[in-house]
Amino acid sequence: MEKEHAIQIDLCSSRKEKPRDDELEFGRTFADHMFVMDYTEGEGWHDARIVPYEPITIDPSAMIFHYGQSVFEGMKAYLTAEGNAQLFRPERNFKRMNHSNSRLCIPPIDEAFALKALKQLIALEKEWIPKAEGTSLYIRPFIISTEPFLGVAPARHYKFMIILSPVGAYYKEGINPIKIAVESEYVRTVKGGTGEAKTGGNYAASLKAQEAAEEGIAQVLWLDGVEKKYIEEVGSMNVFFKIDGKVVTPALNGSILEGVTRNSVIQLLKHWDVPVEERKLSMDEVFQAHQEGKLEEAFGAGTAAVISPIGELVWGEHRLNINSGKTGAVAKKLYDTLTGIQYGKTIDPFGWVMPV
Ligand code: PMP
Repeated sequence: MEKEHAIQIDLCSSRKEKPRDDELEFGRTFADHMFVMDYTEGEGWHDARIVPYEPITIDPSAMIFHYGQSVFEGMKAYLTAEGNAQLFRPERNFKRMNHSNSRLCIPPIDEAFALKALKQLIALEKEWIPKAEGTSLYIRPFIISTEPFLGVAPARHYKFMIILSPVGAYYKEGINPIKIAVESEYVRTVKGGTGEAKTGGNYAASLKAQEAAEEGIAQVLWLDGVEKKYIEEVGSMNVFFKIDGKVVTPALNGSILEGVTRNSVIQLLKHWDVPVEERKLSMDEVFQAHQEGKLEEAFGAGTAAVISPIGELVWGEHRLNINSGKTGAVAKKLYDTLTGIQYGKTIDPFGWVMPV
């Protein structure tokens, strides 16, 4: 049985100046406080605390620097028109964190306690949630292995931290389709690898493809790592295609990250009686559908953009123009509904929103 943790609070002596809502850059400014908790073998997770945001000291031999045993999460806090802070399905992020922990041999966290700590941190930093339309406070929980040891083995010491960063609106001029290239050389991960975990190595592995992509390519479409035939994800989003009236998304296969947005999109589509299929989807099938005029829409789904319509898909020498490069009706409705729920403007029939 986990022991009940108390959260120690150490407030900073002076608050930092906050950036203006129109000059927010993703992930560059951080709130005044952060949550920290340590793990020591034999003792479990201990010393939960909220402390001023500042650099931490870690031994150069700490295992995180050498073998990358770490996990992270990404979610947001939103401010409603009434000025209340709220979270969107945060329990799923901590659940996914434990799923990632399990894959990376990191000891599990107490999900309910992590949520309680997050709510306490957000309540303290509510002023850091920007107010302008489409802005939010990005939440980054993460765990790193801190044991000073160069052996390749699961570490015996860890740090669990939550940091907060105000972010601007993803779409400054309204939801806008992007150009995507199908990546046929590099792969993000393979079945049996760590793709369904949210761990730093997957993102390190993804950088090369983006670097190699031609000008104007916003993200790459990842294919499966074995046959390079089946569609997996797009950049750091899950992906959906509307083909002949049905919405199709790749089934979770062990190498795809299960997005909170993906799950919400599927539930919304079912709620609206739009046929939705989770199955294997090959690039050949998408190409064929395009040739027959049946590829109606394509879009990515993730916390950052919510919904990111795909206007053009580059696959070798083929250029697939989708919905004349415009945002499709399903993508638009999903975007409006999800952001409406997140900011408390639309009724939330699913109980997804959690007040802080
Ligand atoms: N796939 C990958 C690889 C991601 O990094 C993310 C972002 N967390 C997603 C999908 C979308 O997940 P979510 O909807 O939970 O943000």
